[in-house]
Amino acid sequence: MAAAETDREVPSALCSEFLNFSAKDTVAKWLQATDLPKEVYQHLAGYVPKIYCLGPNLNPTSEDLLAQLLLQAPLEWYLCGEDPLVGLAKLEKNNQPSQLCGHVFKVGEPTYSCRECAADPTCVLCMQCFLGSVHKEHRYRMTTSGGGGFCDCGDTEAWKKGPYCQKHEPNICDSSQEDPLANLSADMIARTYNIFSIMLKYAVDMLTWDKEDELPHGLEPPERGDTYYCMLFNDEVHTYEQVIYTLQKAVNCTQKEAVSFATTVDRDGRKSVRYGDFQFCEQAKSVIVRNTSRQSKPLRVQVMHSSVVAHQCFALKALTWFSHVIRYSDALRRILCQVGLQRGPEGDNSLVDTLMLCDSKMWKGARNVYHQLYMSSLLMDLKYKKLFAIQFAKHYERLQSDYVKDDHDREFSVTDLSVQMFTVPSLARMLITEENLMTTIIRTFVDHLRHRDLQGRFQFERYTAQQAFKFRRVQSLIGDLKYVLISRPTEWTNRLREKFLEGLEAFLELLKCMQGMDPVVRQVGQHIEMEPEWEAAFTLQMKLTHIISMIQEWCASDDRVLIEAYKKCLTVLTHCHSGFADGEQPITLSMCGHSVDTIRYCISQEKVSIHLPVSRLLAGLHVLLSKTEVAYRFPEQLPLSELSPPMLIEHPLRCLVLCAQVHAGMWRRNGFSLVNQIYYYHNVKCRVEMFDKDLMMLQVAASMMDPNHFLMIMLSRFELFHIFSSADCRKRYNRESANKDVVQQNSTLIEEVLHLIMMVVGERFVAGIGQVESCEELKREIIHQLCIRPMAHSELVKALPENENKETGMEKVIDSVASFKKPGVTGRGLYELRPECAKHFNLYFHHYSRADQSKAEEAQRKLKRQNGEDSALLPPSLPQLCPLFASLVNILQCDVLLGMLGAVLQWAMEPSGGHWSESMLQRVLHLIGMALLEEQQQLESTLDDNEVTFSFTLKISRPGEAPSTSPSILAVLETLQNAPHLEVHKDMIRWILKTVVSIKTMRERTAAAPPPERAGGWQEEMVRDKDKAERKRKAEMARLRREKIMAQMSEMQKHFINENKELFQQSLEELDASTSASLEHSPSSWDSVLVCVGPRRWRGGRGERRQVVTCILCQEEQEIRADGRAMVLAAFVQRSTVMSKNRKRPPHDPESYDPIFMHPDLSFGTHTGSCGHIMHSHCWQRYFEAVQAKEQRRQQRLRVHTSYDVENGEFLCPLCECLSNTVIPLLPLTKTSCSNGEQPGLVQWLNTTSQQIKALHSAHRKAKPTSVAVAGQSEGVEAPPPPEGFRPDHTPINPYSSSIKEMLTTFGTATYKVGLKVHPNEQDPRVPIMCWTSCAYTIQSVERLLVDEQKPLFGSLPCRQDDCLSSLARFGSACWTVSSLATVQSHFIRLLAALLPDPQVENSRCILDVDMFHLLVSLVLSYPAVHCQDSSGLSTDIAELHLLHLVTVAHLVQILLTSIPVELTMEQESGGVEHEEESVCLLYNTLRSHIGSCVYEVSSGWHLWRAVKAGILPFLRGAALFFHHLHGVPTPPELNAPGASEWEVLCAYLSLPSNLLQLFYSYQEVLEPLLQGWCSHPSMRQCLQSPETLISFPRESNKLIELPEDYSALINQASSFTCPKSGGDKSRAPTLCLVCGALLCSQSYCCQTELEGEDVGACTAHTFACGAGVGIFLRVRESQVLFLAGKTKGCFYAPPYLDDYGETDQGLRRGNPLHLCRERYRKIQKLWRQHSITEEIGHAQEANQTLVGIDWQHL
Ligand SMILES: [Zn+2]
Ligand SMILES: [Zn+2]
Ligand SMILES: [Zn+2]
Ligand SMILES: [Zn+2]
Ligand SMILES: [Zn+2]
Ligand SMILES: [Zn+2]
Ligand SMILES: [Zn+2]
Repeated sequence: MAAAETDREVPSALCSEFLNFSAKDTVAKWLQATDLPKEVYQHLAGYVPKIYCLGPNLNPTSEDLLAQLLLQAPLEWYLCGEDPLVGLAKLEKNNQPSQLCGHVFKVGEPTYSCRECAADPTCVLCMQCFLGSVHKEHRYRMTTSGGGGFCDCGDTEAWKKGPYCQKHEPNICDSSQEDPLANLSADMIARTYNIFSIMLKYAVDMLTWDKEDELPHGLEPPERGDTYYCMLFNDEVHTYEQVIYTLQKAVNCTQKEAVSFATTVDRDGRKSVRYGDFQFCEQAKSVIVRNTSRQSKPLRVQVMHSSVVAHQCFALKALTWFSHVIRYSDALRRILCQVGLQRGPEGDNSLVDTLMLCDSKMWKGARNVYHQLYMSSLLMDLKYKKLFAIQFAKHYERLQSDYVKDDHDREFSVTDLSVQMFTVPSLARMLITEENLMTTIIRTFVDHLRHRDLQGRFQFERYTAQQAFKFRRVQSLIGDLKYVLISRPTEWTNRLREKFLEGLEAFLELLKCMQGMDPVVRQVGQHIEMEPEWEAAFTLQMKLTHIISMIQEWCASDDRVLIEAYKKCLTVLTHCHSGFADGEQPITLSMCGHSVDTIRYCISQEKVSIHLPVSRLLAGLHVLLSKTEVAYRFPEQLPLSELSPPMLIEHPLRCLVLCAQVHAGMWRRNGFSLVNQIYYYHNVKCRVEMFDKDLMMLQVAASMMDPNHFLMIMLSRFELFHIFSSADCRKRYNRESANKDVVQQNSTLIEEVLHLIMMVVGERFVAGIGQVESCEELKREIIHQLCIRPMAHSELVKALPENENKETGMEKVIDSVASFKKPGVTGRGLYELRPECAKHFNLYFHHYSRADQSKAEEAQRKLKRQNGEDSALLPPSLPQLCPLFASLVNILQCDVLLGMLGAVLQWAMEPSGGHWSESMLQRVLHLIGMALLEEQQQLESTLDDNEVTFSFTLKISRPGEAPSTSPSILAVLETLQNAPHLEVHKDMIRWILKTVVSIKTMRERTAAAPPPERAGGWQEEMVRDKDKAERKRKAEMARLRREKIMAQMSEMQKHFINENKELFQQSLEELDASTSASLEHSPSSWDSVLVCVGPRRWRGGRGERRQVVTCILCQEEQEIRADGRAMVLAAFVQRSTVMSKNRKRPPHDPESYDPIFMHPDLSFGTHTGSCGHIMHSHCWQRYFEAVQAKEQRRQQRLRVHTSYDVENGEFLCPLCECLSNTVIPLLPLTKTSCSNGEQPGLVQWLNTTSQQIKALHSAHRKAKPTSVAVAGQSEGVEAPPPPEGFRPDHTPINPYSSSIKEMLTTFGTATYKVGLKVHPNEQDPRVPIMCWTSCAYTIQSVERLLVDEQKPLFGSLPCRQDDCLSSLARFGSACWTVSSLATVQSHFIRLLAALLPDPQVENSRCILDVDMFHLLVSLVLSYPAVHCQDSSGLSTDIAELHLLHLVTVAHLVQILLTSIPVELTMEQESGGVEHEEESVCLLYNTLRSHIGSCVYEVSSGWHLWRAVKAGILPFLRGAALFFHHLHGVPTPPELNAPGASEWEVLCAYLSLPSNLLQLFYSYQEVLEPLLQGWCSHPSMRQCLQSPETLISFPRESNKLIELPEDYSALINQASSFTCPKSGGDKSRAPTLCLVCGALLCSQSYCCQTELEGEDVGACTAHTFACGAGVGIFLRVRESQVLFLAGKTKGCFYAPPYLDDYGETDQGLRRGNPLHLCRERYRKIQKLWRQHSITEEIGHAQEANQTLVGIDWQHL
């Protein structure tokens, strides 16, 4: 809220008046009053303006309190006649609540619908009811509510079974029939009635009040000031940004205030943006209007008097009060309904009507409140719901028109309530019969679509944007129509029949306007200039698809309705046909001895339309006549004789020919709009009421025609008649035609016509056409989908048509045709076709697209080959046709078809002709196969041979007719069988010939003989030689393809990289253990004792090992040498909180933070990773400069982000495109100083070192003599002489070449910059510290990861990580050479001072505040800076060993102090190690004696030793990794496999005794005083006494938060989550942080905050606190994982929730129940733990460039 809106103080003058107010007394007065309304109004007129609207803020909370006391309390007193506290409680007690749940849904709340029991998908349950219902065991759907709507629990009409949940189950003594008013006193009823009437009238008057400066009679305020509001109203035209910008100008507010205003306007529908005198407000208004009127209509602004606004505020309050009081009693609710629906004295509108009719004039907030009230009153009372529904239906047309004119979304319109009434079957039926609702809806709809062409058809062509907008709104009427029709009547009354048919008539009028709309004409010559508008028409068609289907279902449920509907539809169709007759001339066609009269119509020249809904509806009804057997039972009532089959097929046929011609490429110049239309015509969303019905119409007509006539008309429309009718058509056709295009076109058209014939005869799976059950149609559909390939559930759903309930019915049949294969960690579950179903495969399945067909063909042939079968794809056997369609089979044996078949076969005799096509022949063979199967089937199913009228075999054996010399079809086939150019078809031809023979045998046999077995052993013989040819062809193809690829590859090197990309992107576990590692670990280099640290450490045999690497950029080899050219590894440095044990620690101030000691909570670390690709430093520099230059040029042109931020040093690895931001130099192993001399023991070494340090102190002081204080001090203390051989003034020679030095600086600076989030500064003393820290942190995180993944310590890392760790460690030990020696030395001094007291170091750390592993690494890596000045022969090895011992002892102490469990719950195991146990007890007790009560007493040595071992193990493992990589020492094989003996081997490898306590006791004389010093550190006690920050060891690995098993639990949790910033508002995009579990209000203005000077969304802001810039979130509404990194990077990732079909549901569109998949969640967790989130984002963004454009920072 803006600052100006703080709650005002209640003016003190009013206080006393308010305090003296007594509701009881006021009511006493009211009870006496003769004119109660006047009295109440007076009260309101007096108080309302005194309570509301006294300042700029309209809704402070104190107002509600006052309103409660002064305004509502009297109302309740009056109502109850006593103290409302008592009265309302009584009411509640006596109330018998209805069984309706009626819970109104919040935005985002989960709702459940049962797919088995819900009457329609709008019937939903709230979560509570759902969990207590039977449906949770059923197949249910889960969605999130968009707000509004209520729970249907208890509504018996909404559920086929289980209407009640446990809670709403009615008790046996059901009193729901009883009048709820029965148990209320007459007195009370009268009072309620009075007060409700007055208050409802008041509220309605005020909310519909449109005067800005006046009030209704009786409400005028006693005194009136010059106080006004400038009220801004919401519209859906202006954007947020426009409003914010305008407000800043108009009322002079800050951006923040403007955002707040705009948010409120958007939410409540209006907001006062200025308060003051009239002038002041008027001025703001004019600025706003002026500023927003440029492009569109201006924003609505009103200057309103404060008293008007005050009364409107209270009017809303009053409505809320109604909702509140009626909750106490159903009786009160009924009275309210009665009051609301009561008509005025002159029969004028009731209050409920008035409000509804003003709906579109009210602001959003007011609408919401009264809609809610309607839902909780009128819609909850069964009696009044009906009355309200009637009123609603009466006003329907007006309400819809208002809605169409309004610009608010439907959820804010009263029309949205339609779903609550229209979906109740009994109400819908009542409204149809009583209020003629069906007709009203359709008429209203048609009225709003005014644009027609000359024939009265819709025309969307010249739609303006405004009309298009209106068109979208009008579509909601179709939704209403759907609700009304969704449940079919089980019983018909005459009245219902009459009204339904009336509605149908209106509907036919609508369809008539669509019949023939958007006609197209083939474009020749020029390409069309503008793509014509087509989407509107298709939108309409799509929206109506379900309605049309539902209307057919209604018709099918009553014989009389069906007959009448059929007649009406036919009449309308006939009427349509008389409408268009352009280009039709009568002609006569003759062919094969048949002739037919028809018209000439050239589709390629005349108009043709895809939209034929009337024809299609008739086709549907006709099939229903057959299905319901009405055609056979009442033939006399049907106008079948009036049907003209040629008229029926004419338009559907034109449409199908259009499709064929488009396929043949004849309509190319008509552009994409036509292609799109054809696509949708066949698409699953439309085809049921488009393509499918056209095919049906052809079947309908063909079944009533002479098949020869039917085919001739078809050929004529396909413009192929001349080809087949010519006398010599069997000779090569159009040999004369030189035009290749025409030949090609005709070939395709012939293919298409043959396919269409197959479909007309063969598509019999619709009940009514063939003798099938309706589920068989679906089964067949699924089988054919799965013949293409195995599919996921959602893919199948998409491929199947859905009914009006969004159900495909697939679940019922899927298991009978497919088996389910579960998904792995990626991918999804798949359905695979059962092998036995493959025999139903039909290559020419009518719903296959050409692409589907060829994929299915390939898949099925492959399958057959795999099974060792012959690869011919035979036509499947078909079901019998229904009697009405029985004559269709005759098409297969009619003369015209035989003529066509003969012609094509004849053409195919000639191999090189090229005028016939393979697929043409294939289709002909398929048709012949179909005919043979038909004949076979008929023979099998009849006993008497003579009854079989189908005699295809006979006919094809006759010689051809046209030229008398031509051979019979059979003879041609026999010739073709051996044609070498028809190798591919040989199988099919053989099968045909074989079948002909078997049919002939059948015919010869006696009728009683059993039918022979079909398809005998003819296959086996020919499998082999046939396959050979096919294989050879394939092999040749493959070779050509390979060659082509090779050529391309050599052309482009880039290609090579892409080919290999996947290899490099493989994740950790998929790669084999690194090659470099396995070399180093090879047993040949392994001698008896492997030690990685100290004087005894392994030294790599003879001589130095050479290390040679190859640069990925120039491909040159290069040896790694200190004085050689630098080689670098691409690397990515990032801040990390992955291991943090304290996410509450505030981020450090980057400028002043001192990183030298890492706190054991590891709250912020710096991680370094690498893809392991090596380059020359100069090659890399050149590459990076090129990237930079390219990026600069690009940014100048278009301001778009890339997936990497060049300005921040980011680039993609040139080989694997892995995101990188720096490079690590590769360094050789440090030379081992082989000192043979005696090396000092710990005591002596400590002595020498402290002397060295003292010498350094004084040397450093001399170096900076400026500080007076220090100088004075130094005079006092005489500097001791440095130890022998130590020369603090010595400057060592830098061993590295200049390019290596440069790279040392580069990586150091990058680590410093990223790790601290500061500007690069190579001089900063913190640079080396950050390098050491990053090395330590990275090793620690790798160690954790190996434990979590249960991998052995060595040998399991991929080489890229091994290489990265080695170079990090070696870099760490070399980075001091490019820093100031004194700086590094003083770091060492400070580090050591944490363990060894040094009086000259102030503020040394308490050991409990130090992470010992970081300390060890930093000490070891900084020590060379001290050692380089020593020439006494001291070796670094001994120093490393002593440092390791020292830190280990300190860590032991740390563990003993922090990590001993209070309760020793663990059962002690036998066989402990006594010696260790004794010594650990001893040490523990020593510590207790130093510290005292903070450390509890523990006497069990076993437990102590156990705790110590467990606590220190991660440290030892880290140390082993560190020294291994630093010195390149091979690892003992025991550590390459997970095993129990790890401890001993590890200790030995680290040169430590396996009883670590010995470290202490061997040097007790020096360590004891140190121990004492540590214990007496001033902050020791404080640390021990604050358990919340105390870290105990071992630190457990962090996990992502626990997620619930059922996704709806998350939705529910998120739905009650409110935005933390805008008081109690629901968050639109609640988002869960998977790292810490915080819920955030994402992607919303309200929760934007400023971060580093930029506005960022809640998620981005959260990542900076929680994940150091990296975040993993779950967007709950979308069911989508979100990865964020920094402000500009992000990607979406598959959520770990799967449905039962093994699929995710991103966007929650499908609504299947979702359950947690633990493996997938673990995978996300692993990405996080191995610091790969940023890398993952990079890869996602590279793969999908649109992700780069998303404003991630606003999420
Ligand atoms: Zn409920
Ligand atoms: Zn319930
Ligand atoms: Zn159910
Ligand atoms: Zn190179
Ligand atoms: Zn790479
Ligand atoms: Zn978090
Ligand atoms: Zn918010």
